[in-house]
Amino acid sequence: MADLANCPNCGKVFVKALRPVCDACYREVEEKFDTVYTFIRKSRNRSATIDQVCEETGVEKDLIIRFIREGRLQLSQFPNLGYPCEKCGESTREGRLCSKCKKEINDGLREVRKSPDREERKPLRHKSLAAENNDLPDLESSLYERFRRKD
Ligand SMILES: [Zn+2]
Ligand SMILES: [Zn+2]
Repeated sequence: MADLANCPNCGKVFVKALRPVCDACYREVEEKFDTVYTFIRKSRNRSATIDQVCEETGVEKDLIIRFIREGRLQLSQFPNLGYPCEKCGESTREGRLCSKCKKEINDGLREVRKSPDREERKPLRHKSLAAENNDLPDLESSLYERFRRKD
């Protein structure tokens, strides 16, 4: 049975067998990739930024970013290409966050690790355990009282 689906790009019904989008959309993306790749491979264009590539080729920035994320455009070959950090939008070349945001998160984690809260938790637990222990005799005696009253 053919697996029919609506193309997430254009909405047309297509057979979802090989690709997540319909043939027409797939071809369109491939053509755009070729356009971008042909452009950026030229030695004078290798140092182009993503904005320049977008401007020169007419291919949407989002799509170029997708090519980079998918690893189809190797950043090691293109020194000025990058994609926006998911946190602040600054251009980054590896991972999902720029080095600044990565450092911020790491620093934040380190702060949490050495926060005094954690150290204080232990004695607190001891205290509440001690309080519970103190309550026990009271509970026992009140139960005892109740039994006595029944008698
Ligand atoms: Zn389509
Ligand atoms: Zn960032």
